[in-house]
Amino acid sequence: MIRVENLHKHFGGFHAVDGASLEIRAGTITGLIGPNGAGKTTLFNVIAGRLSPTSGRVTMAGEDITGLPPHALFGKGLLRTFQIAHEFGSMSVRENLMMVPPGQAGETLWNAWFARSRIAREEEALLRKADEVLDFLTISHLKDEKAGNLSGGQKKLLELGRTMMVDARIVFLDEVGAGVNRTLLNTIGDAIVRLNRERGYTFCVIEHDMDFIKRLCDPVIVMAEGRVLAEGSADQIMADERVIEAYLGT
Ligand code: ADP
Repeated sequence: MIRVENLHKHFGGFHAVDGASLEIRAGTITGLIGPNGAGKTTLFNVIAGRLSPTSGRVTMAGEDITGLPPHALFGKGLLRTFQIAHEFGSMSVRENLMMVPPGQAGETLWNAWFARSRIAREEEALLRKADEVLDFLTISHLKDEKAGNLSGGQKKLLELGRTMMVDARIVFLDEVGAGVNRTLLNTIGDAIVRLNRERGYTFCVIEHDMDFIKRLCDPVIVMAEGRVLAEGSADQIMADERVIEAYLGT
């Protein structure tokens, strides 16, 4: 679904991504791991249109999407989850889901004016869809809670929920497990697997928790120093001397 060819992203003289080439195959939950500073987040930002690459190419199902802005990618079903913006913390969980403009631009259009007009026009349909999403994610009981009061893991579920309000094809998830307790991490993992199996989502997941990666991801791609160091099943890469060395070297 996604092919990255010889991608470079330089910040001044620093090569954060330094000739990375990889593929994310349709239907997979692909893990992206590597020591801190390996370039994983920068790679995500380039693929998702937040940063333009210094050089290299990104294609989606054969179409060149290099350097397209987030809203254009959003329209193609390529989504990257974002933390809930501060100003939406005082809105309810359900309202946060209803703010996602179907087929429209990402963050930049999530402003109060747009939300109000959208809600006025399509409230019924959006409400139904939001309730379905909450049910799918097993967080219906939180629908009236203020998003700002959610725990870290519950916020991650809400972020995942927002991808379900539109027709996502591939979703990029950054550090799903950071600061999330084990029970919620399992709930998030289950939601990812169900979205993958039942709705055909392809995922690319950056995560440090190897248990989580092992349970969910195949293949796992390992980055180090801005490039792909290894790729294989979780067991394969965990037994790979080069991978062990890259982690020990940091
Ligand atoms: P990872 O996600 O694998 O930990 P990052 O992509 O966040 O790695 O960072 C890779 C390297 O690029 C780091 O050394 C980081 O300090 C550097 N870097 C990231 N963004 C910038 C930026 N905007 N300006 C300068 N350096 C950056």
